[in-house]
Amino acid sequence: MAVDASAYVAPRNLLARPALPAADKEQMESLRTIRGFLKSRTSYDVLPISYRLIVLDTALLLKKSLNILTQNGIVSAPLWDSRSSTFAGLLTTSDYINVIQYYWQNPDALARVDQFRLDSLREIERSLGVTPIETISIHPDRPVYEACRKMLESRARRIPIVDRDDETRRTMVVSVITQYRILKFIAMNVKETQRLRKPFSEMPNVGTYADLATASMDTPVMDVIHMLVKKNISSVPILDKHGVVLNVFEAVDVIALIKGGLYDDLGLTVGDALLKRSDDFPGIFTCSLSDNMSTIYDTIRKSRVHRFVVIDSENRLKGVLTLSDVLEHTLLEGLEDDD
Ligand code: AMP
Repeated sequence: MAVDASAYVAPRNLLARPALPAADKEQMESLRTIRGFLKSRTSYDVLPISYRLIVLDTALLLKKSLNILTQNGIVSAPLWDSRSSTFAGLLTTSDYINVIQYYWQNPDALARVDQFRLDSLREIERSLGVTPIETISIHPDRPVYEACRKMLESRARRIPIVDRDDETRRTMVVSVITQYRILKFIAMNVKETQRLRKPFSEMPNVGTYADLATASMDTPVMDVIHMLVKKNISSVPILDKHGVVLNVFEAVDVIALIKGGLYDDLGLTVGDALLKRSDDFPGIFTCSLSDNMSTIYDTIRKSRVHRFVVIDSENRLKGVLTLSDVLEHTLLEGLEDDD
Protein backbone atom coordinates (compact mmCIF):
# COMPACT_ATOMS: atom_id res chain seq x y z
CA MET A 1 0.00 0.00 0.00
CA ALA A 2 1.40 3.36 -0.92
CA VAL A 3 1.58 5.78 1.99
CA ASP A 4 1.78 9.52 1.57
CA ALA A 5 4.81 10.58 3.63
CA SER A 6 3.32 14.01 4.19
CA ALA A 7 0.69 12.35 6.38
CA TYR A 8 3.44 11.70 8.94
CA VAL A 9 5.65 14.74 8.59
CA ALA A 10 4.23 17.79 10.32
CA PRO A 11 5.27 21.17 8.90
CA ARG A 12 8.30 22.41 10.83
CA ASN A 13 6.58 25.38 12.40
CA LEU A 14 3.79 23.16 13.78
CA LEU A 15 6.21 20.82 15.57
CA ALA A 16 5.94 21.25 19.32
CA ARG A 17 9.17 22.61 20.81
CA PRO A 18 10.57 20.58 23.70
CA ALA A 19 10.08 22.41 26.99
CA LEU A 20 13.24 24.17 28.19
CA PRO A 21 14.70 23.14 31.55
CA ALA A 22 14.37 25.89 34.20
CA ALA A 23 18.04 27.06 33.93
CA ASP A 24 17.75 27.44 30.12
CA LYS A 25 14.46 29.30 30.48
CA GLU A 26 15.94 31.74 32.99
CA GLN A 27 19.04 32.22 30.80
CA MET A 28 16.94 32.93 27.69
CA GLU A 29 14.60 35.31 29.53
CA SER A 30 17.57 37.28 30.85
CA LEU A 31 19.20 37.40 27.41
CA ARG A 32 15.94 38.73 25.91
CA THR A 33 15.84 41.47 28.56
CA ILE A 34 19.44 42.47 27.75
CA ARG A 35 18.66 42.50 24.00
CA GLY A 36 15.58 44.65 24.62
CA PHE A 37 17.77 47.07 26.60
CA LEU A 38 20.35 47.25 23.77
CA LYS A 39 17.56 47.95 21.26
CA SER A 40 16.20 50.78 23.41
CA ARG A 41 19.51 52.64 23.83
CA THR A 42 21.47 54.51 21.18
CA SER A 43 25.17 54.02 20.45
CA TYR A 44 25.68 57.53 21.82
CA ASP A 45 24.23 56.43 25.20
CA VAL A 46 27.16 54.04 25.68
CA LEU A 47 29.64 56.93 25.84
CA PRO A 48 30.73 58.30 29.19
CA ILE A 49 29.81 61.91 30.07
CA SER A 50 33.29 63.12 29.26
CA TYR A 51 35.94 61.44 27.17
CA ARG A 52 38.84 62.30 24.93
CA LEU A 53 39.30 61.23 21.34
CA ILE A 54 42.66 61.01 19.63
CA VAL A 55 42.38 61.04 15.84
CA LEU A 56 45.46 60.44 13.68
CA ASP A 57 46.08 62.04 10.30
CA THR A 58 46.83 59.48 7.57
CA ALA A 59 49.91 61.54 6.61
CA LEU A 60 51.48 60.74 10.02
CA LEU A 61 54.60 58.58 10.12
CA LEU A 62 53.94 55.07 11.45
CA LYS A 63 56.76 55.53 13.96
CA LYS A 64 55.07 58.64 15.39
CA SER A 65 51.69 56.92 15.57
CA LEU A 66 53.25 54.28 17.84
CA ASN A 67 54.63 56.98 20.15
CA ILE A 68 51.25 58.69 20.34
CA LEU A 69 49.44 55.44 21.19
CA THR A 70 51.92 54.47 23.92
CA GLN A 71 52.16 57.95 25.43
CA ASN A 72 48.38 58.11 25.70
CA GLY A 73 47.89 54.52 26.85
CA ILE A 74 45.59 53.62 23.94
CA VAL A 75 45.73 50.76 21.42
CA SER A 76 43.69 52.11 18.51
CA ALA A 77 42.66 55.41 16.92
CA PRO A 78 40.40 56.62 14.11
CA LEU A 79 42.22 57.86 11.00
CA TRP A 80 41.48 61.14 9.28
CA ASP A 81 42.32 61.92 5.67
CA SER A 82 42.88 65.67 5.75
CA ARG A 83 43.12 65.96 1.95
CA SER A 84 39.53 64.81 1.50
CA SER A 85 38.41 65.70 5.07
CA THR A 86 37.00 62.23 5.57
CA PHE A 87 37.13 59.47 8.16
CA ALA A 88 39.60 56.88 6.82
CA GLY A 89 38.93 53.86 9.05
CA LEU A 90 40.24 52.66 12.37
CA LEU A 91 43.90 52.00 13.10
CA THR A 92 44.22 48.92 15.35
CA THR A 93 46.92 46.52 16.54
CA SER A 94 46.06 44.30 13.53
CA ASP A 95 47.49 46.99 11.26
CA TYR A 96 50.82 47.01 13.16
CA ILE A 97 50.86 43.23 13.01
CA ASN A 98 50.37 43.44 9.23
CA VAL A 99 53.32 45.83 8.98
CA ILE A 100 55.47 43.43 11.02
CA GLN A 101 54.52 40.53 8.76
CA TYR A 102 55.29 42.61 5.68
CA TYR A 103 58.80 43.49 6.88
CA TRP A 104 59.36 39.91 7.98
CA GLN A 105 58.58 38.78 4.43
CA ASN A 106 60.41 41.70 2.76
CA PRO A 107 63.51 42.40 4.91
CA ASP A 108 64.95 44.59 2.12
CA ALA A 109 62.13 47.09 2.67
CA LEU A 110 63.18 47.53 6.33
CA ALA A 111 65.63 50.31 5.41
CA ARG A 112 62.64 52.50 4.46
CA VAL A 113 60.52 51.74 7.53
CA ASP A 114 61.24 55.15 9.08
CA GLN A 115 59.59 56.93 6.16
CA PHE A 116 56.48 54.80 6.30
CA ARG A 117 53.21 56.77 6.63
CA LEU A 118 49.80 55.55 7.75
CA ASP A 119 48.27 56.11 4.30
CA SER A 120 50.53 53.34 2.94
CA LEU A 121 48.89 50.73 5.19
CA ARG A 122 46.39 49.77 2.52
CA GLU A 123 49.19 48.92 0.06
CA ILE A 124 50.81 46.63 2.63
CA GLU A 125 47.51 44.98 3.40
CA ARG A 126 46.87 44.46 -0.31
CA SER A 127 50.31 42.94 -0.85
CA LEU A 128 49.78 40.56 2.09
CA GLY A 129 46.27 39.67 0.90
CA VAL A 130 44.85 40.31 4.39
CA THR A 131 41.67 42.08 5.50
CA PRO A 132 42.06 45.83 5.00
CA ILE A 133 41.80 48.44 7.72
CA GLU A 134 38.45 48.37 9.52
CA THR A 135 35.93 50.78 8.00
CA ILE A 136 32.61 49.73 9.59
CA SER A 137 30.93 52.45 11.64
CA ILE A 138 27.65 53.31 13.36
CA HIS A 139 25.62 56.52 13.52
CA PRO A 140 25.23 57.86 17.11
CA ASP A 141 21.41 57.69 16.90
CA ARG A 142 21.31 54.03 15.86
CA PRO A 143 20.57 51.42 18.56
CA VAL A 144 23.58 49.95 20.31
CA TYR A 145 22.07 46.55 19.39
CA GLU A 146 22.80 47.37 15.73
CA ALA A 147 26.39 48.38 16.59
CA CYS A 148 26.83 44.98 18.30
CA ARG A 149 25.41 43.07 15.30
CA LYS A 150 27.76 44.94 12.96
CA MET A 151 30.72 44.10 15.21
CA LEU A 152 29.78 40.43 15.35
CA GLU A 153 29.33 40.21 11.57
CA SER A 154 32.72 41.73 10.82
CA ARG A 155 34.49 40.24 13.89
CA ALA A 156 35.53 43.81 14.81
CA ARG A 157 36.38 44.35 18.47
CA ARG A 158 35.56 48.08 18.34
CA ILE A 159 33.37 50.33 16.21
CA PRO A 160 33.68 54.07 15.51
CA ILE A 161 30.60 56.27 16.01
CA VAL A 162 30.45 58.44 12.90
CA ASP A 163 28.06 61.35 12.34
CA ARG A 164 27.55 63.65 9.34
CA ASP A 165 27.66 67.43 9.55
CA ASP A 166 24.40 68.66 8.02
CA GLU A 167 25.92 71.86 6.66
CA THR A 168 29.19 70.61 5.19
CA ARG A 169 27.87 67.05 4.52
CA ARG A 170 31.21 65.84 5.91
CA THR A 171 31.68 62.89 8.23
CA MET A 172 32.74 63.45 11.85
CA VAL A 173 34.12 60.81 14.17
CA VAL A 174 32.34 61.17 17.52
CA SER A 175 34.08 58.37 19.41
CA VAL A 176 34.94 54.67 19.28
CA ILE A 177 33.09 52.06 21.32
CA THR A 178 34.73 48.79 22.23
CA GLN A 179 33.31 45.36 23.12
CA TYR A 180 34.42 46.05 26.68
CA ARG A 181 32.57 49.38 26.91
CA ILE A 182 29.33 47.84 25.57
CA LEU A 183 29.51 44.85 27.91
CA LYS A 184 30.30 47.11 30.85
CA PHE A 185 27.30 49.28 29.88
CA ILE A 186 25.15 46.12 30.09
CA ALA A 187 26.78 44.99 33.36
CA MET A 188 26.17 48.39 34.99
CA ASN A 189 22.58 48.85 33.80
CA VAL A 190 20.85 45.47 33.44
CA LYS A 191 20.43 43.59 36.71
CA GLU A 192 19.15 40.50 34.84
CA THR A 193 22.82 39.70 34.10
CA GLN A 194 22.76 38.19 37.60
CA ARG A 195 20.27 35.57 36.40
CA LEU A 196 22.62 34.21 33.70
CA ARG A 197 23.43 31.25 35.92
CA LYS A 198 23.79 28.37 33.45
CA PRO A 199 27.32 26.93 33.93
CA PHE A 200 29.77 26.92 31.02
CA SER A 201 30.04 23.13 31.42
CA GLU A 202 26.48 23.00 30.01
CA MET A 203 27.17 25.51 27.23
CA PRO A 204 30.02 24.01 25.16
CA ASN A 205 29.25 26.46 22.32
CA VAL A 206 30.23 29.48 24.46
CA GLY A 207 34.00 30.02 24.17
CA THR A 208 36.59 27.84 22.42
CA TYR A 209 37.71 24.48 23.80
CA ALA A 210 39.31 22.73 20.81
CA ASP A 211 42.16 23.58 18.41
CA LEU A 212 43.47 26.19 20.81
CA ALA A 213 46.48 28.20 19.69
CA THR A 214 49.03 28.02 22.53
CA ALA A 215 52.76 28.62 22.98
CA SER A 216 55.50 28.18 25.56
CA MET A 217 57.85 30.77 27.03
CA ASP A 218 60.52 29.60 24.55
CA THR A 219 58.38 30.01 21.42
CA PRO A 220 59.72 32.76 19.10
CA VAL A 221 57.39 35.74 19.41
CA MET A 222 57.12 35.87 15.61
CA ASP A 223 55.49 32.39 15.62
CA VAL A 224 52.89 33.69 18.08
CA ILE A 225 52.25 36.74 15.89
CA HIS A 226 51.61 34.40 12.92
CA MET A 227 49.11 32.45 15.10
CA LEU A 228 47.22 35.67 15.93
CA VAL A 229 46.87 36.45 12.23
CA LYS A 230 46.11 32.95 10.99
CA LYS A 231 43.29 32.37 13.48
CA ASN A 232 42.17 36.02 13.67
CA ILE A 233 42.40 35.92 17.47
CA SER A 234 43.64 38.51 19.93
CA SER A 235 45.58 36.34 22.38
CA VAL A 236 47.53 33.12 22.83
CA PRO A 237 47.83 31.36 26.23
CA ILE A 238 51.39 30.54 27.28
CA LEU A 239 51.71 27.10 28.91
CA ASP A 240 54.36 25.07 30.69
CA LYS A 241 55.05 21.51 29.59
CA HIS A 242 52.20 20.18 31.75
CA GLY A 243 49.63 22.46 30.12
CA VAL A 244 49.54 24.79 33.14
CA VAL A 245 48.73 28.39 32.17
CA LEU A 246 51.65 30.75 32.91
CA ASN A 247 50.56 33.86 31.03
CA VAL A 248 48.77 35.13 27.92
CA PHE A 249 50.43 36.90 24.97
CA GLU A 250 48.02 39.56 23.70
CA ALA A 251 47.90 41.29 20.31
CA VAL A 252 48.35 44.62 22.15
CA ASP A 253 51.72 43.37 23.48
CA VAL A 254 53.02 43.85 19.94
CA ILE A 255 52.98 47.63 20.43
CA ALA A 256 55.48 47.51 23.32
CA LEU A 257 57.70 45.31 21.15
CA ILE A 258 57.98 47.68 18.21
CA LYS A 259 57.47 51.10 19.78
CA GLY A 260 61.18 51.94 19.70
CA GLY A 261 61.11 51.17 15.99
CA LEU A 262 63.27 48.18 16.86
CA TYR A 263 61.94 45.51 14.62
CA ASP A 264 64.94 43.41 15.83
CA ASP A 265 62.93 42.63 18.97
CA LEU A 266 60.84 40.31 16.86
CA GLY A 267 63.62 37.73 17.17
CA LEU A 268 62.84 37.45 20.93
CA THR A 269 61.13 34.53 22.66
CA VAL A 270 57.66 35.05 24.15
CA GLY A 271 59.19 35.00 27.65
CA ASP A 272 61.52 37.90 26.84
CA ALA A 273 58.79 39.78 24.96
CA LEU A 274 56.47 39.62 27.98
CA LEU A 275 59.14 41.34 30.09
CA LYS A 276 58.53 44.46 27.97
CA ARG A 277 55.03 44.88 29.38
CA SER A 278 54.47 47.99 31.43
CA ASP A 279 54.56 47.62 35.22
CA ASP A 280 50.87 48.39 35.54
CA PHE A 281 49.81 45.28 33.57
CA PRO A 282 46.77 44.07 35.55
CA GLY A 283 47.45 40.33 35.11
CA ILE A 284 45.35 37.68 33.44
CA PHE A 285 41.80 36.66 34.31
CA THR A 286 40.75 33.04 34.64
CA CYS A 287 37.47 31.19 35.12
CA SER A 288 36.37 27.55 35.38
CA LEU A 289 33.72 25.48 33.68
CA SER A 290 31.52 25.81 36.76
CA ASP A 291 31.40 29.60 36.30
CA ASN A 292 28.62 31.26 34.33
CA MET A 293 27.85 34.51 32.47
CA SER A 294 26.70 36.13 35.69
CA THR A 295 30.22 35.83 37.17
CA ILE A 296 31.71 37.08 33.89
CA TYR A 297 29.46 40.17 33.85
CA ASP A 298 30.31 40.75 37.50
CA THR A 299 34.04 40.81 36.67
CA ILE A 300 33.42 43.06 33.65
CA ARG A 301 31.57 45.48 35.95
CA LYS A 302 34.58 45.68 38.27
CA SER A 303 37.65 45.30 36.03
CA ARG A 304 38.87 46.15 32.57
CA VAL A 305 39.05 42.59 31.28
CA HIS A 306 39.26 41.37 27.67
CA ARG A 307 39.34 37.62 28.02
CA PHE A 308 39.18 34.76 30.50
CA VAL A 309 41.40 31.72 30.33
CA VAL A 310 39.30 28.69 31.29
CA ILE A 311 41.31 26.43 33.60
CA ASP A 312 40.76 23.27 35.67
CA SER A 313 41.52 22.86 39.39
CA GLU A 314 45.23 22.31 38.56
CA ASN A 315 45.45 25.53 36.48
CA ARG A 316 45.65 23.54 33.26
CA LEU A 317 44.18 25.11 30.13
CA LYS A 318 40.65 23.99 29.20
CA GLY A 319 39.60 26.81 26.88
CA VAL A 320 39.41 30.49 26.09
CA LEU A 321 36.41 32.77 26.63
CA THR A 322 36.82 36.25 25.15
CA LEU A 323 34.61 39.32 25.02
CA SER A 324 33.70 38.28 21.44
CA ASP A 325 32.21 35.07 22.91
CA VAL A 326 30.36 36.99 25.64
CA LEU A 327 28.92 39.44 23.09
CA GLU A 328 27.96 36.61 20.72
CA HIS A 329 26.18 34.65 23.46
CA THR A 330 24.42 37.78 24.72
CA LEU A 331 23.10 38.72 21.27
CA LEU A 332 22.73 35.53 19.30
CA GLU A 333 22.07 32.57 21.63
CA GLY A 334 18.69 30.98 20.73
CA LEU A 335 17.90 33.81 18.33
CA GLU A 336 16.54 31.46 15.63
CA ASP A 337 14.02 30.10 18.16
CA ASP A 338 12.93 33.66 18.96
CA ASP A 339 12.55 34.43 15.23
P1 AMP B 1 39.11 37.21 20.15
O1 AMP B 1 39.37 37.89 18.88
O2 AMP B 1 40.33 36.99 20.97
O3 AMP B 1 37.99 37.82 20.90
O4 AMP B 1 38.63 35.73 19.77
C1 AMP B 1 37.80 35.44 18.66
C2 AMP B 1 37.35 33.98 18.76
O5 AMP B 1 38.49 33.12 18.76
C3 AMP B 1 36.58 33.65 20.05
O6 AMP B 1 35.53 32.74 19.72
C4 AMP B 1 37.61 32.98 20.94
O7 AMP B 1 37.04 32.00 21.82
C5 AMP B 1 38.53 32.32 19.94
N1 AMP B 1 39.93 32.31 20.45
C6 AMP B 1 40.55 33.30 21.13
N2 AMP B 1 41.82 32.95 21.45
C7 AMP B 1 42.01 31.71 20.94
C8 AMP B 1 43.12 30.80 20.91
N3 AMP B 1 44.28 31.10 21.50
N4 AMP B 1 42.95 29.61 20.28
C9 AMP B 1 41.78 29.31 19.67
N5 AMP B 1 40.71 30.11 19.67
C10 AMP B 1 40.80 31.30 20.28
